[in-house]
Amino acid sequence: MSTPIFPAEQPGPRRRMLVIGGGIAGASVAYFASAAGWNVTVLDAGHTHEVAGPVSGSGRASDVPSALLNPVRGQSGQVDARDLKGLRLSWSLIRHLSGRGHQIPHEQSGVLRPLATDVARAKFERHLPADLPRRWLSPTELLSSGAAPAWPVRDWLAPGWPHLLFLPEGGWVSGPALVAALLAESGANIRRARALTWNAGHATLESGETLTAEVVVWCGGSVGAGWGGGSGQFGAGQFGGGLDAQTFTHRRGSLLLLERSPAPLPVSAGVYLAPHASADGSRGGVLGATFEAPSAQAHVGGLPLKSLHWLLSRAAALTGDLSPAVTGIWTGSRLSGESCGRQSGGWWALAGLGSKGFLLGPLLARQLVSDLEVGSARTGLSD
Ligand SMILES: Cc1cc2nc3c(=O)[nH]c(=O)nc-3n(C[C@H](O)[C@H](O)[C@H](O)COP(=O)(O)OP(=O)(O)OC[C@H]3O[C@@H](n4cnc5c(N)ncnc54)[C@H](O)[C@@H]3O)c2cc1C
Repeated sequence: MSTPIFPAEQPGPRRRMLVIGGGIAGASVAYFASAAGWNVTVLDAGHTHEVAGPVSGSGRASDVPSALLNPVRGQSGQVDARDLKGLRLSWSLIRHLSGRGHQIPHEQSGVLRPLATDVARAKFERHLPADLPRRWLSPTELLSSGAAPAWPVRDWLAPGWPHLLFLPEGGWVSGPALVAALLAESGANIRRARALTWNAGHATLESGETLTAEVVVWCGGSVGAGWGGGSGQFGAGQFGGGLDAQTFTHRRGSLLLLERSPAPLPVSAGVYLAPHASADGSRGGVLGATFEAPSAQAHVGGLPLKSLHWLLSRAAALTGDLSPAVTGIWTGSRLSGESCGRQSGGWWALAGLGSKGFLLGPLLARQLVSDLEVGSARTGLSD
C-alpha cells in the first residue's frame, strides 16, 4: 500500500475535536481525524519533566530517538496479525509524509533477531506466520544498510548466536520526527497547555480556561496517566468505560546514545541496538530497552547504575564491539494496558500502547477515527 487509506471526509461543517496529548497516539489521531474532516486542536503539556544534565527526556515515550518497527516480539516468534497490519501502515505513512517533504530519519533496513539455541529456532519456525517475509542468515553473510558498508554479521555480532532471523520489513524511525510530521500534516491547532480535567465535550486547562468540542480524545500516555491519577480525573470510578477494565502499568526505559551503531541495522534480543539519525542529519546509534520494573506510577529520571550494568551486560552478549563513545542518555516512560475507543464518561481514549506505539499507534488511531465516524462505541480493535 503506497498511500494510507483515510476515513471518508463527511459532508457539512467541520466538527471540532480536542485531542489531549501530542505523542504518537495523539498525533496519529489528529492526522486521521483531520483527513476525515474534523477541525482538530491538540493540547500538549510539553516537556514539563525536563531532566537537566547529560540525561535527556521528559518522560514522553514518543521522543524515543530510534524506535524499531519490528512485529516479532517475545521469545516464541508468535506474531499478532494486527502488528503486521500496523507495521505496513506505519511504513506507508512514513513514506507518504516523506514524499510530502517532511524530514523523518528512518530506514526500512530489516531487523535482525539472533537466537541462541536450536530449540528457540524450532519454536520460531513453528509460530512465524506464512505471510511474514523472513530469511535465516549465516554469520558469514554480508548485511548493509543505507550508506554503511556491507559487513559480515560475524564482524559485529558476538559468538553464541548460531541462528539469525532476518526480517526485511522491519527497520527504525526517529520518534519525534514522525510525531512532528503527523502533527504538521494534520494542520491541527497545537496548544501548549495541560488539561486538568475533561469529559465528553470539554476540557479545563491549568489556567482555568475551558475548551469545548464535539469529541474529546485522551492520548496522555504514561506521563498523562500519572497526572490524571494525581488530579482526580482517573480516580476510582472515573477512569471509566474501556479504561475501567484496564490495569495500566508504567515502565521506564532508557537508551544510551552512541557515537555510532556497532551494527548496520537494528538488532533485537532483549535489548536493541539500532542506528539513529538526528533531524540535522548527524548519525549515531542507540542501545536500549524498557527494562525497569513495571510500576503503578510513572517515574521519570536517569539511568540507575544497576540498570546500566544490566544494559551493558546484555549488549556485550549481543555484540563484540562496545567501543563507540556514549554521547548521552535518553529516558522515557511507557504505559501498558491498551485502550482504544469511547469511555463510559463519553470521552474517547487511545492509550496504553506499551512497546508498540510506533507499530500500532497509527493503525489504532485510524480505527478510532473510523469508529467515531460510524458512531460506534467500542474498545479494542478488530481487523
Ligand atoms: C526506552 C523505550 C523504547 C521504546 N522503543 C520502542 C520501539 O522500538 N518501537 C515502538 O513501537 N515503541 C517503542 N517504545 C514505546 C513507544 O515509545 C510508546 O508506546 C509510545 O511513544 C506511546 O505514545 P503515547 O502518545 O501514547 O504517549 P507519550 O509519547 O508519552 O505522549 C503523551 C503526551 O501527552 C501529553 N499529555 C499527557 N497528559 C496531558 C494532559 N492532561 N494535558 C496535556 N497534555 C498531556 C504529554 O505531555 C505527552 O507529550 C519505547 C518506549 C521506551 C520508553
